Amino acid sequence: MVAAVSLQNVYKVYNGVAVVNDLSLTLETGEVFGLLGPNGAGKSTTIRMVTTLSRPSQGTITVAGWDVTRQQLEVRRQIGVVLQQTSVDGDLTVWENMEFHGRMHHLPPAQRRRSIDDWLDYVELGDRRDDKVKTLSGGMKRRLQIARALLHNPKILFLDEPTVGLDPQTRRRLWEIIQRLNQQGITMLLTTHYMEEVEYLCDRIGVLDQGKLIALGSFDQLRQRHGEGLVMTQRGDRWEYQFFPTLEAAKAYLEQQPDKTGMMTRPTNLEDIFVELTGRNLD
Ligand code: ADP
Repeated sequence: MVAAVSLQNVYKVYNGVAVVNDLSLTLETGEVFGLLGPNGAGKSTTIRMVTTLSRPSQGTITVAGWDVTRQQLEVRRQIGVVLQQTSVDGDLTVWENMEFHGRMHHLPPAQRRRSIDDWLDYVELGDRRDDKVKTLSGGMKRRLQIARALLHNPKILFLDEPTVGLDPQTRRRLWEIIQRLNQQGITMLLTTHYMEEVEYLCDRIGVLDQGKLIALGSFDQLRQRHGEGLVMTQRGDRWEYQFFPTLEAAKAYLEQQPDKTGMMTRPTNLEDIFVELTGRNLD
């Protein structure tokens, strides 16, 4: 089966600096892939290249087998994009926003209307169709963005920080929508700063740092690789972390210490691994 997304030795160079640096990565059809990395790591640049908004300086990117530089139209037919900056128009109604997007994708009128109805119902915005978008809450706007991105029935959805700035309840609701879409066969690439989001949604994770892929695998694989148990030791106002293959091994180590003051053990989480890999916190 052809990969949903494939990047081979991809570079993006700005002012002589490779902000994406020899990136090779394959997304399998049907998976939810989480791209993590500190600010400036190259996540948005990568998404922009894969979604045809920016050209790679070097290397090859294909989406469902189509080349992003030579076959842009075919690529765009395959993908839906929810980026931070592509916001919805507040002065138009919910319906008008959808209609505008449907026309851009040259959907025939009858199909367009049916598809708009279906997707608005899907994201539970059917009863807000005639309201101006500026009257919607942040969570509703995000759902509208997702509905709009799905209007032409893409196979792959790109979500850049889909739940940033939303309250926990609204975030959970979006997670359910994302999960449901994935169960219907849509492949997803998302970027996020939220650990629970990655653990809840993503089949695999890639960590970018300074344009390079420094880790790749499922959450379980990353935990196994780095150690599933942690000993934390308080030193002044800082914590020192030591990784152990298992939580039991971490506990056994702690037991052996003559002075256990300021020490504790716990299972490793994704944030621990992220900080260990990049030396930085996620936000
Ligand atoms: P992330 O999404 O991981 O925060 P970005 O992809 O936005 O990272 O940025 C990666 C690097 O590329 C940053 O150092 C940023 O300043 C730089 N960059 C992004 N877009 C441009 C541009 N159009 N011109 C010059 N530098 C850019």
